[in-house]
Amino acid sequence: MNKTALITGICGQDGPYLAQFILEKGYHVIGTTRLLSAKNDFGLKYLGIDTDVEIIELNDFSLSNLKKILTQHQPNEIYNLAAQSSVGESFLKPLETIQENVMSLLSWLEAIKLVDQNIAFYQASSSEMYGNVRLENLPIQEGLIFNPASPYGISKATAHWLTVNYREAHGLKTGCGILFNHESALRGSNYVIKKVIHQAILIEQGKQKTPIRVGNLAIKRDWGYAPKYVQAMWKILQQDKLDDYHICSGNLTSLNEFVGQIFDQLNIDSELYLEVDKALYRPVDLEAIYGDNRKAKQELDWKYNMSTTELIEQLIKDEYQYMEWKARN
Ligand code: NAP
Repeated sequence: MNKTALITGICGQDGPYLAQFILEKGYHVIGTTRLLSAKNDFGLKYLGIDTDVEIIELNDFSLSNLKKILTQHQPNEIYNLAAQSSVGESFLKPLETIQENVMSLLSWLEAIKLVDQNIAFYQASSSEMYGNVRLENLPIQEGLIFNPASPYGISKATAHWLTVNYREAHGLKTGCGILFNHESALRGSNYVIKKVIHQAILIEQGKQKTPIRVGNLAIKRDWGYAPKYVQAMWKILQQDKLDDYHICSGNLTSLNEFVGQIFDQLNIDSELYLEVDKALYRPVDLEAIYGDNRKAKQELDWKYNMSTTELIEQLIKDEYQYMEWKARN
């Protein structure tokens, strides 16, 4: 019998790619959005799957409402992607970030415990939980102590431990993907990589004359390709014994180098078209962070071997395609 999966936050970046991946496996996919009348389903449309998924409104994360949803839709798997997912925004909206990233997760876990403990539950954890990591702890391996440096990181760390605790204390089938930064054409336009690639293409096409404004170029991150990362989410829930995994590229690149390569690949002069704006700096930023993905590769048979240069080539190609599609739709 075909499985039913419920994806919270299906209209974000990862939701459409994950939905596409599991639809191909024959799943019935239900997705949630906070306000149906204002749903932003362009990602689903772009991938041509908007009519293949059932979208429901979910803005009441009370235990009683989530129990009702589980009883009504009877999912076999839940992928909890919905979140206030911006680190920068979390400094501006700490109350909302903690409230919405933690309490909704806790409600889901309680609802599963009470309604159907056979439901497999995926939590979208984040490398931001680690915070500033000492050089000798890089690349980070699963199990390193968390030291989050933003309300977002703190919310994700709390949600992570709750998910682990419900697995250990109540035997729920929960697993966390600790994802490092991942990008695609469907990334929100306020995220730096998407912003730079999009505007760099406009400059290359002669449609933008002003420089691209960026924050701290010295930060170093582990960037990867979202359509490949969602495959690992599904694999995490297919294990006999659920566990937590790093999903990352294992490559460390500075933002300066990443942006430089985008400019080089598009033949744009960064002297003319790149401007550092201190207003875009975060109150606290992580200097360098990258992960070890061997556990996911070995235990999940997850395949990932894109270099940073290949990733940038792919993202530029995808953005051209996406912009053409947007212009037609
Ligand atoms: P995203 O594009 O921001 O999508 C998340 C969705 O959650 C949004 O489309 C929105 O859907 C919903 N949402 C936004 N604010 C919310 C709030 N305050 N409360 C409840 N729901 C809210 O995120 P993503 O890039 O797909 O990432 C998926 C998950 O992985 C997130 O939990 C994120 O924190 C985590 N993560 C992402 C990365 C990354 O590099 N992308 C890395 C590590 C972890 P509606 O407006 O339709 O309700």
